[in-house]
Formats: sequence, structure tokens, C-alpha cells
Amino acid sequence: MSAESPRLPLASPDIGPLEEQLVVAALRSRRLSLGPLLREFEALLGERLGVEHVSAVSSGTAALHLAVRAAGIEAGDEVVTTPFSFVASANCIVYEGARPVFCDIDPVTLNIDPEAAAAAVSERTTGLLPVHIFGYPADLPALEAIARRHGLWIVEDACEALGAVHDDGVAVGARGHLAAFGFYPNKQITTGEGGALVCPDAATKARVDSERNQGRAPDMGWLDHVRLGFNYRLDELSCALGIAQLKRLDELLAARARVAAWYRERLSGIEGLGLPCPDSAGARRSWFVFCVQLPGDVDRAGVIERLRARGIETKPYLPAIHLFSYYRERFGYRPGQFPVCEHVAERSLALPFHSRMRESDVDQVATELERAIGRVRAGT
Ligand SMILES: *Cc1c(COP(=O)(O)O)cnc(C)c1O
Repeated sequence: MSAESPRLPLASPDIGPLEEQLVVAALRSRRLSLGPLLREFEALLGERLGVEHVSAVSSGTAALHLAVRAAGIEAGDEVVTTPFSFVASANCIVYEGARPVFCDIDPVTLNIDPEAAAAAVSERTTGLLPVHIFGYPADLPALEAIARRHGLWIVEDACEALGAVHDDGVAVGARGHLAAFGFYPNKQITTGEGGALVCPDAATKARVDSERNQGRAPDMGWLDHVRLGFNYRLDELSCALGIAQLKRLDELLAARARVAAWYRERLSGIEGLGLPCPDSAGARRSWFVFCVQLPGDVDRAGVIERLRARGIETKPYLPAIHLFSYYRERFGYRPGQFPVCEHVAERSLALPFHSRMRESDVDQVATELERAIGRVRAGT
């Protein structure tokens, strides 16, 4: 990260007067953890998604960890998942001594390819862990069919997809599986650090609530720890921020969609540049990032450097998880195993993207990107 902040950063949270008001009120209440705002935040999120049982936790990663535990993961299990994701979706499997079995992705949606997932299922497979990458809904109906056929659990990583809707009209996270959301400052809504887990039933939520709080008994009794637990609690200040953000969710999503539309319009004329796929019939993406695929003959590092010099922050997004050294060394993954993912990972570039970008900002990024591509191609 550079010392100076870029003029046009990759991401930036949208914090307004309501956020300030609710956070200050929470501070003044002197109740800073395990108070009424935790329950209010959970209830609001549940209402929004159309689900009954939500457990708010300290990060999206914590939500994923408690999700795989609640699903019943055991050491030695295999879990089929996507290599094109943020590393947390694979790490949560490794935390429990299980093995992430990667398979290739769909070249259009960039989500896990159901046929590749089916082919990766073995006798040791116990679960599927799809990710709704960049806020585009993964093909859950196809994965549900695979899960039924083989008796597998499903945990959804919906950390990038709050507000997205499936083809069949169901909100992402509301299909009855364990589904993890994340509220880091670059997500659609933020709590600072934070996350939430949608649970299929009250008993699962009770277990998750206990595990996030050191395994304490559900009546909050101080004297007994009925199971192994963690400190994955979400504090009241974070919940206050989350409540304000949730109340503004529609406004934030609409602003992000508007920025994405400006980008699409402005960039569609650049030859060879790949843009995010349009939403399929019925589905609605929740815009998380705006990633382009650079043409094959363009040096990505050169483009990033030229844009950086113009105050525009961009980033390779995302690197393939199976090629991280930890994953290569521990699990024996190597280049060439998932060609679609690797091709996309080598060429994709995230552009500055947040709800308060103006059309003129988008215009500048597009102009500079076009120039940078031209210069890198010309070698000047
Ligand atoms: C953001 C994110 C997470 C969770 O991240 P935290 O920083 O732990 O909140 C998990 N998976 C994906 C795909 C993400 O983008």
C-alpha cells in the first residue's frame, strides 16, 4: 500500500449522518457488547433477507468458520469449492483439518462450474462451498441437485453478495443453507470488521451464538462452557454502524449499480476488454467490485503502474487460491489444474468502485485505462 492515498481509491465506505448518529448513541449508552443492538442488527438483516435466524459475528471469516462447523465438517473430509475467491472461503475448511478440493469456474459468471463440481466429488466429500463471486449469484439449483444426489451439505459464501437475487427470485442467502455475509469496509455495507451467518433453524443459531461467545451456555450462564467456543462476538458500535447501513441498503445498492452502468457504457468501446457479464433473466447481481479482463496482449503490471501514477488505484483481482504457496505446499496444487480460473486470474483487474463515485470519476478512470492499454501495447 502506498503512503499517499490515491485520488481514486479502489473502495471507500459510504458513511453519512445516520451512521454517526447511531454510533454516537451506542457509545453514550455505555453498553458496548452483547447488548440490544446486536439483536436489532440481526433482526433487521433477517427481515431484509427474508430469513428467521441470523447470528452476527466479528468477521465474514468467522461466519464461514462457524458455518462449516455447524454443517458438521470433520478432519479428513473433502469439501468441493472454487479457487477463484478470497482466500477465506478455502481457509475455513483448512481450519477444521479438512481438505479444500478445488474445481474450475464458469468463464461467464466466474462462479463455481456445477459440472466441474460434480466431477470433483469423491467418497470423502461431505460438503460443497460455493461463493457468489463479485456479487453474482452462483448456480445454487444445480449445486443443490448435486448435494441431494451425494448427501452433501452446502455452505454459501455470500460475503460479496448482500442484496443479490437468484434466477428463481430467492434472495442470495435465503435458500435454507448456512450462508455467510461479510461487512469489511469494501463490502456493500460495512460494520468496520464484521459478518453474519444465516442459520437454517433455531437450534443451529443457538449453537452458533454459543460458539461465537466462548461456548457459553445459551442462557449466558457464566459458570458453564458447554462446548468449545471462540471470541467471534460483534460489538455494539459495529452493530450500530451496521443498522444505519442496512437502513440505507437500497440507496447504497442503487448507487453502486449506477456507477457500474457508467463503467459499462464508457468501457464497452475498448477493443478486447472483457466486462462483467450482464445479469441472466431473473437474477440480480449486487455490485461488489467492477473487474475488467484485460486483452491478452496487455501487460497488467504496466497498466497498474501507469494508473497508479495518475492517482488511480487498481488491483489484480483475484489471484487463484490454489496457486498460493501455502496451498501448493500443503495440498500439492500446481499451475494448469484449473485453466479457466487461471486465465481469468491472470488478466482481471479491479477498478475504483464505490457508491459515491461521480460520472466524471468513472470517465477519468476509463480515459486513463484506455490510454494505459494503448501505451503498454505500443511499448511507450
Ligand atoms: C470479504 C470476504 C470474506 C470475509 O472477509 P472478512 O474480512 O473476514 O470479513 C469471505 N469471502 C469472500 C469471498 C469475501 O470477499
